[in-house]
Amino acid sequence: MENEKEPKPTIKTEDFEDHTIKCADCEKDLLYMVRVRPSEKNYKIIVKCPFCESESWLVELTGDYFQKTPKSLLIEEMYEENDVLLIIMKRR
Ligand SMILES: [Zn+2]
Repeated sequence: MENEKEPKPTIKTEDFEDHTIKCADCEKDLLYMVRVRPSEKNYKIIVKCPFCESESWLVELTGDYFQKTPKSLLIEEMYEENDVLLIIMKRR
């Protein structure tokens, strides 16, 4: 297996792509997903809303991402269930 021209893991700003995950019911911002670089990685995410006890739609993302929380929220818990990443937020 030749590792042909594996690019160095640098972050180019043009690769950044932001997704805001909002609550499906109250439409508050729950989590920001910032794409660091394109990749084959695939995420399915549901974020639980701490404001109305509902949750976001199922969000599907491809690439390498990091999570950024809105100022007023923290990630309380994260776990996988049937291939879906469930993120439970709580208020700061
Ligand atoms: Zn909500």
